[in-house]
Amino acid sequence: GKRDEELILPINSSLSVTLHQDQLKTTTTATISKDFTEDRIWLNGQEEDVGQPRLQACLREIRRLARKRRSTGDGDSLPLSLSYKVHIASENNFPTAAGLASSAAGYACLAYTLARVYGVEDDLSEVARRGSGSACRSLYGGFVEWQMGEQADGKDSVARQVAPESHWPQLRVLVLVVSAEKKQMGSTVGMQTSVETSSLLQFRAESVVPTRMREMISCIQARDFPGFAELTMKDSNQFHATCLDTFPPISYLNDVSRRIVQLVHRFNACHGQTKVAYTFDAGPNAVIFTLEDTVAEFVAAVRHSFPPETNGDKFLKGLQLTPVLLSDTLKAALAMEPSPGGVQYIIATQVGPGPQILDDPHTHLLGPDGLPKPAA
Ligand code: ADP
Repeated sequence: GKRDEELILPINSSLSVTLHQDQLKTTTTATISKDFTEDRIWLNGQEEDVGQPRLQACLREIRRLARKRRSTGDGDSLPLSLSYKVHIASENNFPTAAGLASSAAGYACLAYTLARVYGVEDDLSEVARRGSGSACRSLYGGFVEWQMGEQADGKDSVARQVAPESHWPQLRVLVLVVSAEKKQMGSTVGMQTSVETSSLLQFRAESVVPTRMREMISCIQARDFPGFAELTMKDSNQFHATCLDTFPPISYLNDVSRRIVQLVHRFNACHGQTKVAYTFDAGPNAVIFTLEDTVAEFVAAVRHSFPPETNGDKFLKGLQLTPVLLSDTLKAALAMEPSPGGVQYIIATQVGPGPQILDDPHTHLLGPDGLPKPAA
């Protein structure tokens, strides 16, 4: 939830893991020219309304920073005019607006790209945050904290890397896509209603999150998987409890999501230790954390509980895993009636780096005329 909708300032700090671009990424190209008559943006090949307030806030903010650099003399050599219009093209290689954080990836990538175009070297938390709060965390790789800050102007509401992407190489992430449909309830409206009506959310922000943030950071630093996993699951559950405590209530999870929760707990119980964790954002899709030595077995458990209806060979995307057979003990412990097709597909990935520059012009999304290149 937010304490300031305009500046996008949160009611509590938060922490995220940046996923690897080899599997999940946004690619953005931006270019300015004196020949452009207006700012324009294309998202996944379709032209979008450039007047969207969030996008306008990012553009205003980056131009303000560029102007500031220039007036302080730092940007003298910049061969550009700030009055030039910008063309932007961006693509996500995963479902957009489906609860898989395309807005975080998209606005982080946009802020970083615009900063390169305008020669801005300042902290970009504010630019990205004005697009989508969680985008400020995605400006860094690895494990990232968004410190809520205290100032009314938001200058101290910034992202900070807690540990780099190389810190915990055994960690694996599975995105269980239950639905790639557009979300029905937008996160912004949902959060507003929760802040206005849920007393549990208030309690959570004030009394639960600050301690959990400290605990989570120490679990990450110590690579304590059971500690990290338990906090992740409890925090996801409490977030969804605040959604139910919102009036009228919001429910992002569906029956498949709840079965995934059950599957994880039974899997862990059978092993007698916490080997897998789930977390759900504002949608039914699950994000699973586990370690390298368990990931293939858990994928087999998902396949067993949610047999693919079609395209069994395309069920697992991303990182390749050597398939394992599920033991009879585990099958019995899961004790689940299979729900065919409940999970559409899995994207296997790991912790990844922050924004990367693509030097090869072939990868750029805009042609020399400043218009999107025809799809290959
Ligand atoms: P999600 O759960 O995917 O973040 P949201 O509905 O919260 O879904 O945000 C989706 C919105 O984020 C899109 O409608 C668009 O405005 C913005 N967005 C998504 N991807 C990009 C991108 N690559 N570049 C710029 N904006 C993007």
